[in-house]
Order: sequence, then C-alpha cells, then structure tokens
Amino acid sequence: MKVLVPVKRVIDYNIRPRVKADQTGVDLANVKMAMNPFDEISIEEAVRMKEKGVATEIVIVSIGPAQAQETIRIGLAMGGDRGILVQTDAAVEPLAVAKILKAIVEAEQPGLVIAGKQAIDDDSNATGQMLAALLDWPQATFASAVSKDGDTLKVTREVDGGLQTLALQTPAVVTTDLRLNEPRFASLPNIMKAKKKPIDVKTPADYGVDVAPRLSVVKVTEPKKREAGEKVADVDALIAKLKSVGAI
Ligand code: AMP
Repeated sequence: MKVLVPVKRVIDYNIRPRVKADQTGVDLANVKMAMNPFDEISIEEAVRMKEKGVATEIVIVSIGPAQAQETIRIGLAMGGDRGILVQTDAAVEPLAVAKILKAIVEAEQPGLVIAGKQAIDDDSNATGQMLAALLDWPQATFASAVSKDGDTLKVTREVDGGLQTLALQTPAVVTTDLRLNEPRFASLPNIMKAKKKPIDVKTPADYGVDVAPRLSVVKVTEPKKREAGEKVADVDALIAKLKSVGAI
C-alpha cells in the first residue's frame, strides 16, 4: 500500500510568535520554521507501517514556498521515499490544499493519506476532512492508534472522556493526534541519504487549482497579558480571598 503524507512548513513550535504591528498576521521574517509537529507524527506512523511491511512506498507532499523542500527532506530522512513540492508563495487555505491533494491522490493512487490533525499556524483542523469529502473516502480523525488487517484499517480516536475505535475500508484518510507515536529524529547518515531522494517540483496550476484566498483575516492580536498574581499569608486568607472574588 502506498501512503501519502502531506506536511506543512510552519513556524517552529518552540518560537513565540510575534504579531505584526499592523495586526494583519504573524511576523515570519527571520523566524525559524519547521515541520508541523503533527506531520512528523504522520511520517513516523507511515515509516512504522513500512517497517512492518504494511506500507510499500511513502510519498511526502508539501504545498508552500521553495524552502518547503527542506521540510520534505526532513521527512525523507525520517524514512519517506520521495517527495512532491507544489511550489507557491501564496498563503494556501485548507480548501485549496485539499483540492491539490485530491489531484495528487488521483495521480498517485495511494491506499492511505495520513495528515496531521491540524497545522499549528492556522489551527484550521480542516484539510484532512475536506480531502476525505472531496475524494468521497472514509476518514478517521485524531488517531491515537492505527492498525491494518487486509483492506480494513482499525483506528482508535481520542474523543471526549474516552476512546472510540473505528473500522474503515481503504483507501482512506486518517489524521494524527499527539499520542499516536513519538517521531524519530533523522540521523545524520539518513539526512545525507535523503539528499539523493527525488523531489518533483510542481505548481498549483499544474493541478488546475486556483489558490486565491476565500477568507480575509480581519485582525490578529496578541493574547491578553496575564495579570500579576497575589501572595496570601495562609489557607484562611486564600479561602477568604477566593470567596471575595466569587470563585468559591
Ligand atoms: P489544517 O487543516 O490547516 O489545520 O492542516 C491539517 C493538516 O493538513 C496538516 O497537518 C498537514 O498534514 C496538511 N496540510 C495543511 N496545509 C498543508 C500544506 N500547505 N502542505 C501540505 N500539507 C498541508
């Protein structure tokens, strides 16, 4: 089974984002970028499937600027086989990403697409679901365990207050949650080997997809600054204080 893994280049999760002075978005100038953390989990899962003989080939796709090649290379160093970069400098919204992925799925015919549950920059949590809808494929979101038996995938999902297990027929779309696995680090020899793995470079126009935005951002603001705390002398003072503010 061929597995397609879409990966997004986003602001590194260790970096505290700064909002631009004109409040139109987050300042990305000279900011460290990295692979969306959920996408690392997707690659890890695909590589484990390959190690078990369930997956035969792992194709890593990114839609983004030329530098997204570096993100694909990390995925190739983790165990991906080849990459597809759909190059654009536009900020591509989930619907356009899903349309491009649909066209790639039609050309590549994978048995499974494993995407992240959300990209940590726009927090849309939409692309996997839109792709499944466009393809009319079954989907299982927020996966915390995945196994395959014949044409059936068993996916455990983290839902409020418990776990839900679904059985779906492949081909299917799965989106990954944080506890699915712990992604491996790409070793230096594998980073060197990944340099030789092929990456096809395409454009959205090659897939006939118009990436013009359909949403407009009205305003982006910093979270409210936390107010300073107050130290109280003892438990009685704490209880009196909590009562006075109506917290208990
Ligand atoms: P989102 O719906 O934007 O929260 O993103 C969910 C998932 O869709 C991500 O974890 C990726 O797997 C995939 N995805 C979103 N945007 C892109 C992109 N520009 N290129 C490749 N994959 C993407």
